[in-house]
Amino acid sequence: MKSEIRVRFAPSPTGSLHIGGLRTALYNFLFARKNHGAFILRIEDTDQKRSVLGGVEEIIKTLNAFGLKYDEGPILKNGRLDEKGDSGPYVQSKRLKFYQEAASKLVAKNFAYPCFCTVERLEDIRKQQVQKNLPPGYDGFCRDLPSAESQERVKKGEKHIIRFKMPKTGQTDADDLIRGKVSFKHIFLEDAVLLKADGFPTYHLANVVDDHAMAISHVIRAEEWLPSLPLHIQLYQALNWPMPEFAHLPLILGPNRKKLSKRDNDTAAKDYLKDYLPNAILNFIALLGWNPKTNQEFYPSPENLAADFDLKKINRAGAIFELKKLIYLNRQHLRAQDPIVLAEKVGLGLSPAECQKFLPLALDRAEKLSDIPKSINFLLTDEINYSKDLLMPKHINSETAVKENLTLIHDFLKEIPQTAWNNQGDFKNNILAWIKSQNKTNAEMLWPFRVALSGLEKSPDPFEIAVALGKKKTLQRVEKGIAKF
Ligand code: GLU
Repeated sequence: MKSEIRVRFAPSPTGSLHIGGLRTALYNFLFARKNHGAFILRIEDTDQKRSVLGGVEEIIKTLNAFGLKYDEGPILKNGRLDEKGDSGPYVQSKRLKFYQEAASKLVAKNFAYPCFCTVERLEDIRKQQVQKNLPPGYDGFCRDLPSAESQERVKKGEKHIIRFKMPKTGQTDADDLIRGKVSFKHIFLEDAVLLKADGFPTYHLANVVDDHAMAISHVIRAEEWLPSLPLHIQLYQALNWPMPEFAHLPLILGPNRKKLSKRDNDTAAKDYLKDYLPNAILNFIALLGWNPKTNQEFYPSPENLAADFDLKKINRAGAIFELKKLIYLNRQHLRAQDPIVLAEKVGLGLSPAECQKFLPLALDRAEKLSDIPKSINFLLTDEINYSKDLLMPKHINSETAVKENLTLIHDFLKEIPQTAWNNQGDFKNNILAWIKSQNKTNAEMLWPFRVALSGLEKSPDPFEIAVALGKKKTLQRVEKGIAKF
C-alpha cells in the first residue's frame, strides 16, 4: 500500500482558487497521472474563521472547469456535497477525533504538552519581545510543568491548548525533491500549537495526521510551507509514522519580481476562463516553474503535459507570471481547436461549413476568446462601415490613383473564374503576378483591396478574406469601396 503513489491537493476553502493553488493542483494531478497514482482532493478547513460559505463547492467547480479530475475527495452530486474514495472524510472539520487522538498520543509520549497561558500573557510576551528586539515566539512557560500538575489542571477543565515540544538543540534535515538538502536549526523554532482550545487542530497537526491516514506518498505544495517542514518532520518522527517525500514549489512572481498579487493580474483562476481556453491556461501554468528541458512549449492537453512531467525539472527560483506568454499559448490552442467546437464555445451560431471557412480567419487576430466574435464580425455582416481615408495607402495622396487601382483590381477579379477562387495558393499567386505585370507595387494595390474587403485597419490578408467571402461578395465590397470616391 505504502509504495503506491498518492498525492493530494489540500486547499483551504477561503474563497476563489488562486493561480498558485491551481498550479499546485495541476502539478499534483500531473505527477499522479505520470506515475499511475491517485490524486486526492482534501479540504483543510480547520481555520473556521477563514473558511467561506460555498468555498468547497467553489474549489470543486474550478477543478472541474479545468478538467483536473481527482480520484478521491469531496464531489458535487446533484448540487450537494458528497464524497468519493475510501480514505474519507476528506473535509478536515469532519475528522476532529483523529487529530485529538494524535494530540493525546503526543502528550502521553511527552512530545507535546498542555499550555494554559492566557491570551493576555501571550500578548505580553509578544510586546516584550518586540521591545527587546527578540524574535517572536512562545517562551515555553508551560513546557516543563510537572506532568501530574498539567493532568490535574486539564481534568479540572482549565482552558488549554496543546503545544509541540520542539527539541531545543540540533537541527532537522530534509531532502526536498526540488530544493535538495534543507536544514532548520531548532533554536529558531518555537513550540507550535497543535490543538486549539476549542478542540480544533492547527494546520500542522491536521495536515500530518491526514497525510498519514490517507497514505500520501508525496507532498507537493507551495514554497510558503517550507518553514513548516521541520515541525512536520518532527511530528512524523514523534508519532513514529513513515514520512512522505516533500516537494516545495517555487513562488509565482509578478512582473516586479515580487510575489504575484492582485495588483499585477487577476489571481482568481476561474477569471481566466472567460478569456482563455482551459488547456491553454493549464499549459501556461504548467510552465510556471516547470521546464520540460526541450524546446516544446505547446502542450495540447494535460495528458500531454503529464507524459513529460517530472518533479526534478522544476526550478527552485521563482517563476515570473507573464500574461503575454499566456496569450501566445492561447493563440496556439485556439488554432488547434476544432473550429466547430470553438464556434459553439464563443457563441457563434455558424454552420459547420461557415466555421471551417471563417473561424481560421478570425483566429488570425484573436488573442482572447471574446476577440473571436469581434474579429469575425466583418466577414458575417452585410454592411461594413469604414471611412474613405482608410482606403488610402501610406504615402499615396491621390484619391484618383487609389480609385483607379481599386477599379483595376475589380475588373481583374471579375475575370477570374469562380473555380479559381477555391484554391487560395493559386488565387494569391495569380493576383500577385498580375500586379507585377501592371508595374504596380503590392502596397498600393493590396492595401485598398484589403480595406475594401474588411473595413479594418488590421485584418488577415485580402486573399484569405476574398476566398472566405467568395467571388460575389468580394466584388460587391470592392465596388462599395470604389463608390466611396
Ligand atoms: N491548506 C494548505 C493550503 O491552503 C495546504 C498546504 C499543504 O499542502 O500542506 O495551502
